[in-house]
Amino acid sequence: MPHSVHTAAGTFGNFIDGEWVPSRAGKVFENRNPADQDDLIGVFQQSSVDDAQAAIEAARGAYERWRLVPAPKRAEILFRAAGLLVERKEQCARDMTREMGKVLEEARGDVQEAIDMTFFMAGEGRRQYGQTVPSELRDKFAMSVRQPLGVCSAITPWNFPMAIPSWKIMPALVCGNTVVFKPATLTPLSAVNFVKVLEDAGVPKGVVNLVTGGPDVGTLLATHEAVRVVSFTGSTSVGRTVNQNAAPGFKKVHLEMGGKNVVIIMDDALLDLAVDGCLWGGFGTTGQRCTAASRVVVHEKVYDDFIERFIARARALRVGNGLDEQVQVGPSISASQLETVMQYVEVGQTEGASLLAGGHRLDAGPMAKGFFHEPTVFGDVDPRMRIAQEEIFGPVVSVIRCRSLDQAIEIGNGVQYGLSASIYTRDINRAFAAMRDMYTGIFYVNAPTIGAEVHLPFGGTKATGNGHREAGTAALDVFSEWKSIYVDFSGRLQRAQIDAQEL
Ligand code: NAD
Repeated sequence: MPHSVHTAAGTFGNFIDGEWVPSRAGKVFENRNPADQDDLIGVFQQSSVDDAQAAIEAARGAYERWRLVPAPKRAEILFRAAGLLVERKEQCARDMTREMGKVLEEARGDVQEAIDMTFFMAGEGRRQYGQTVPSELRDKFAMSVRQPLGVCSAITPWNFPMAIPSWKIMPALVCGNTVVFKPATLTPLSAVNFVKVLEDAGVPKGVVNLVTGGPDVGTLLATHEAVRVVSFTGSTSVGRTVNQNAAPGFKKVHLEMGGKNVVIIMDDALLDLAVDGCLWGGFGTTGQRCTAASRVVVHEKVYDDFIERFIARARALRVGNGLDEQVQVGPSISASQLETVMQYVEVGQTEGASLLAGGHRLDAGPMAKGFFHEPTVFGDVDPRMRIAQEEIFGPVVSVIRCRSLDQAIEIGNGVQYGLSASIYTRDINRAFAAMRDMYTGIFYVNAPTIGAEVHLPFGGTKATGNGHREAGTAALDVFSEWKSIYVDFSGRLQRAQIDAQEL
């Protein structure tokens, strides 16, 4: 198997117990550029449960040594990995744009997020603070410490192919766990690049394992008895299956799933600022972000003005191959995702929304080889319509009219998801009311629904998440367990809650 991460259209192995290996059944799959299907990115292992089993066993074997490596020493490897990511940032970003289509500037941002997270979690090697508290008994010491759990599965989507794996794998490692990583089948090269960095940084064999493949691999990662944590990011429907599969084994399951995020624009908002935010939030990453601003709720007093400015700017966006620095919006990830976008455009029209901009596939000239779609805006959207309720995951924004902040908040909360929301207003009272009343895991004021930083918790409510958070020190709670420790140095039996203490 090639050890160079930069091999053009090479064949890439799984990484199991410190070796790059082919799948046991010898099956492979091709990965092609969504902007140009003639561009073969590479050939990857179509793994089966046997490969996943081998990876889990390797992780189980490595755990007994890794958990005893002092956390600051584990962190030194993460610091080295962060440095290597910095060195390889441009190449990793170019590989990412080729394999999943987001424009180069955003792909660099994705790698940067992995760098930030790696440095942040490396810092946690010297923290992971517990509590020391006074005991209620004399000559007794009381404290709590974090301890690792064992083998963690990291199951990830294709839209942030380096950032999201880093959110899971770095905290897992610094806490002393070992990892089996299954990336989305659409972005295996970024996963290889990421794991290669960890290998080169000196992660001991078996501590991180990579298995490329589909749902059968994912199913074993959610059910195998050795796996203690399943950390999943992806769609709500697959997340539900993962949750059900993991439940009988009482695994710790961390789920980050779909979104239908909202930007609220009040009548006192700076409209040009709001338009900038809605363009970036709605069409950045071609709308393929879990935090994408796919709904915009606008006060009726500024609705027409907003629509006029927004559709002019949406129509002017340059769509194309993300490797071209002039391009602002790349392709959809796949033929089926493009099909989904086109179906929703039809649904919106059938439901009676006004198609104000875009609405068509782009397939002239070289675009015919990719999955391009015009940035699309629907106006006069009723909040109950499917285009206002369901995650489309494409360049489609639904604009909804409102009469008041209360109504905007009701519309904003009126979906099954609860990831991110934002408000544009210059009225601090409205900003704070919305901040309090939007039931989401993330909230922005005078900024779009995207733009999370790695040192605060990231995640959502309702059908977006199951209460855990990635990023920040909150991620440590997913990848560690608390152990409370009492040390009695009195030399006699002391009974808590029973024995009276002399004053
Ligand atoms: P997906 O659910 O199709 O796949 C996610 C991962 O699960 C992939 O690695 C896939 O191979 C794997 N998988 C599929 N079936 C499985 C099974 N039965 N058991 C275990 N694993 C299985 O999602 P996707 O299309 O890759 O990503 C897009 C979705 O991800 C969107 O819904 C988006 O909102 C969501 N997302 C959420 C967040 C967040 O933090 N909330 C971040 C990014 C993406």
